[in-house]
Amino acid sequence: MAPFYNPSAFDSSPLISGLAADRMTTAPHPIRIAIVFDGREFNCQPVGLPFSLEGHPPVDIVLFGAQSEAGPAASLLPELHPEGFDLVLDGRFMAGGLPDLAPEQAPNLLSGPAADFLQGLVCQLQELRQKQEINAGIIMSATDGLVTINEDHVIIGYNHGAEQMFGYTRREALGQDLKLIVPPPFTELHGGFVKRYVATREAHVLGRQRRLNARRRDGTEFPLSISFSVAEIRGNLYFTAIMRDITEYVAMEERVLQTERLAAVGNTVAHIAHEIKNPLLIIGGFARQLIKSPGLDDGARQKLSIIAEEVSSLENLIAEMRDFVRRPPAQKRPGQIAGVIQGALELFQDTFKEHNIQVRQVEAAALPSVTFDPRQVHQVLVNLFKNALEAMPGGGEITISSQVKGDKVEISVTDTGAGLSPEASANIFRPYFTTKEKGTGLGLAICQSIMEEHGGCIFADSPPGRGATFTMQLPLEEASQEAGPMSAPEGVS
Ligand code: ADP
Repeated sequence: MAPFYNPSAFDSSPLISGLAADRMTTAPHPIRIAIVFDGREFNCQPVGLPFSLEGHPPVDIVLFGAQSEAGPAASLLPELHPEGFDLVLDGRFMAGGLPDLAPEQAPNLLSGPAADFLQGLVCQLQELRQKQEINAGIIMSATDGLVTINEDHVIIGYNHGAEQMFGYTRREALGQDLKLIVPPPFTELHGGFVKRYVATREAHVLGRQRRLNARRRDGTEFPLSISFSVAEIRGNLYFTAIMRDITEYVAMEERVLQTERLAAVGNTVAHIAHEIKNPLLIIGGFARQLIKSPGLDDGARQKLSIIAEEVSSLENLIAEMRDFVRRPPAQKRPGQIAGVIQGALELFQDTFKEHNIQVRQVEAAALPSVTFDPRQVHQVLVNLFKNALEAMPGGGEITISSQVKGDKVEISVTDTGAGLSPEASANIFRPYFTTKEKGTGLGLAICQSIMEEHGGCIFADSPPGRGATFTMQLPLEEASQEAGPMSAPEGVS
């Protein structure tokens, strides 16, 4: 409720809290003052300002009076809408007292010392209002969400940052229980904290950063970093939470954790691969030697060639695993990607012919120079060609198209094989996912990690009955004008 103002207590706090809470917005609005008198009957009479206030927002003054027999003026207070006025003044205390005027002369009540007093008061009130509007503006416009609740868990403060974060407007959120934005079990936890604080005044979470899950208007939950503060104002407790959406931070944390886990797995894999490599080399070598031994019966020769075959697929698996966990960092330099495509194609030329696979190349225009590691991009292409080959056991067509698309260079490899099942589509880039009897499931995972290291990406498309298309994109930003022509990496063309 607006305070019943006593001028002798001007410097005490009631004046501030007298500014109606709901008016704490940055939008200008008139200052409204009610003056209540004893012994006269001036009900709800608005009066003009007895002084001029240039450049100030408007001030509305309303006079209220009560006849002596109706009781003291203070009894009028409950009838006044507390939110309707910034200040309610007790006319008896106004400086210099009040001239003895008839009710119809009410406006003249505010003259002489009373007017001077009022003018000083209005100026101070406006200064306070300005400060309050600045504070409210800062709070309202903060990008962090600021939500204040009272002891009953009802939201009484909700800024613009909170609107953005939760999707509820201020109007919708004010007056609601906090559970609107804080789902279980966090509502209960928070409720417990508030209850405990009210009972004991002991705060365990004040000033500390906490994490909890919050809920948006659309029902999705997201992680928040939150710090609490509590203010006791005139015996009432107000709990304010400063909230920050940490979805991206948590995702990054998860990635770091994943990287650490992978690094640990990587070390183990590299170690095991190292230990297995040499014995495999010996087994495979001996098997191949023994196959050539004279006098070996067919059964034994067949068994030996199975051993040699199994050993070489194990060697292949180990090489890919090592590559996946211990690939050296990309050595990027500016160059022409077309040369690398040709180099990889030449490698497959004979195999494609043998398998009855036609090669078609579509190049929209000459590709500009891009910055990339030619060995690694060669590796990606080789893997895509190998997969296309394996997807077309009965022959078919492979199309390699390249073009500039926006700020990227795009290279697609399309085959006319069986395409990808929905399950495969969802998993092909996951390490160790394979549908092949002797597959490692690492080829595409390696391709993806290479493309990511290049700031690019790789994705697959497989319209029903039309084979599969794998598209790799490299960013053009790093394109260099000084680049000379670059052909396939040494030793691979
Ligand atoms: P691998 O070839 O060892 O299985 P990859 O990571 O290269 O490992 O491929 C993973 C899986 O993706 C393959 O087992 C296959 O199911 C699917 N796949 C990849 N390329 C194609 C393609 N061109 N057509 C159909 N399926 C494919």
